[in-house]
Amino acid sequence: MNGLMMQQPLLISSLLVHAERHHGEREVVSRRVEGDIHRYTYRELAARSRRLAKALAALGVKPSERVGTLAWNGYRHMELYYAVSGAGSVLHTINPRLHPDQIVYIADHAEDQVLCFDLSFLPLVQAVAGRTKTIRHFVAMTDRAHMPADPKIPNLLCYEDLVDGQDDRYDWPVFDENTASSLCYTSGTTGNPKGVLYSHRSTVLHTFAIALPDALNCSASDAILPVVPMFHVNAWGLPYAACMTGAKLVFPGPGLDGKSLYELFEAEQVTVSAGVPTVWQALLAYVDANGLKFSTMRRTVVGGSACPPAMLRQFAEDYDVHVLHAWGMTEMSPVGTVAAFKPQHLAQPVEERYAVMSKQGRAVYGVDMKIVDPAGRELPWGGAASGDLLVRGPWVLSRYFKGEGGEALRDGWFPTGDVARIDAEGYMQITDRSKDVIKSGGEWIGSIDLENIAMAHPAVAIAACIAVPHPKWDERPLLVVVKKPGAELTKEELLGFYEGKIAKWWTPDDVVFVDAIPLGATGKMQKNRLRQMLKDYRLPVA
Ligand code: ADP
Repeated sequence: MNGLMMQQPLLISSLLVHAERHHGEREVVSRRVEGDIHRYTYRELAARSRRLAKALAALGVKPSERVGTLAWNGYRHMELYYAVSGAGSVLHTINPRLHPDQIVYIADHAEDQVLCFDLSFLPLVQAVAGRTKTIRHFVAMTDRAHMPADPKIPNLLCYEDLVDGQDDRYDWPVFDENTASSLCYTSGTTGNPKGVLYSHRSTVLHTFAIALPDALNCSASDAILPVVPMFHVNAWGLPYAACMTGAKLVFPGPGLDGKSLYELFEAEQVTVSAGVPTVWQALLAYVDANGLKFSTMRRTVVGGSACPPAMLRQFAEDYDVHVLHAWGMTEMSPVGTVAAFKPQHLAQPVEERYAVMSKQGRAVYGVDMKIVDPAGRELPWGGAASGDLLVRGPWVLSRYFKGEGGEALRDGWFPTGDVARIDAEGYMQITDRSKDVIKSGGEWIGSIDLENIAMAHPAVAIAACIAVPHPKWDERPLLVVVKKPGAELTKEELLGFYEGKIAKWWTPDDVVFVDAIPLGATGKMQKNRLRQMLKDYRLPVA
């Protein structure tokens, strides 16, 4: 017997319709590429998204066709999020930090028909425009007054002209919720980037899950500033969760330096934010150096790479900001786990609570996870065993776009490529990417643990730990460190800092000081490039 409830497909457009009808007065504030602050309401966002949907249809964009973007976090990008997916086409957010060759590759692979871009990316678009195969229209996301005089792109269209050219009488089409909505390419540190194609259903379900209190905790009374870019796994779903909950949205545009971010946090009374650790490092350095405090910010989501315990402690103790440490990946829309407390943690001493917050967290409903040994047998929870982390759920990828890489699943589970432990309470802790593990004498050494300890040293700005060959142990850990400006630190002092914090045989064999550690397009340390940089390095002979 079937239930007797309405059949309503879960469509992305329904989030915008909800925001317009029930939170129509709530603000969306953006720092624009043009330099000023723009503000309007969800009502205006909805109306302009409808006009944009009509304009894209008038350009000949059909359902399922891809529309690419090269854009910062801002209201026009938000309009594209809803106009493109809402009309049944597919929004392809491109990471502008990729190399132009990679951008050409993914725009061709995605068969993008239109490319919309912020003016800051004009030189990048000029570099790729003549080389892409399928793009029929280039659209500069600005108004007539700011259009470049000599863009060197034939028939460049103006975004505001497109929107102005239509009225907002438009009904969002209704279609199967399994229809593709958006497309993101993985960073592709090995081989070509692979496309992850989300559906309306997966996106809406993910939105419900991340808005919950023990996940990203979004509410109508919040003002959310996603620092995580809209070109990085849909800003972790916040542009959707904000519409679902009616939270105020604040978009930083290109202003991602500490000063610009801090000023926006304060001026717009931001309560919640989200971003990768490297961004927070810059913000905290600015706030610290200028003796400032956050007057309204209370929570921030940190993910994308491990949040160093020293950072969540600094947020809590110096700024009264609670860090929600989260883990996920492009293939998971992205959120899989969040390190929110269970009741037993609330009464614990603060140090034990920091230890919980430092883990990557427990699964949000909708995602199941397990760790397995090399033969694929499930390993017990409890903290001791670490193994390959596998996940499944309705917003986890089943296959890459165009079947690239063949079957992505192992017995119905997606292998994340991460190595993790899961404690008895269900909190997962990543010890490494499987390709970064350090294997010493047949045992694994977790590079993330070693990095976290180094990052707690006051003179260390950033630390990476990589494996280097060793005649007896196969591999040993080498610590690569960038010192804070002006800080004094010797190798002996830093290695001494490990004493008592980990098993002695885990201590790195050597420390190399460098000026910078290579970061990838999403702000992660690129250990493959680091290994390449240090390929001639040899451990000191004992
Ligand atoms: P994204 O595009 O979100 O950066 P990718 O799909 O490129 O994500 O990378 C996902 C990987 O990032 C994960 O498999 C994991 O290795 C790493 N990662 C994400 N969040 C965390 C975290 N909180 N701690 C440690 N590693 C993380």
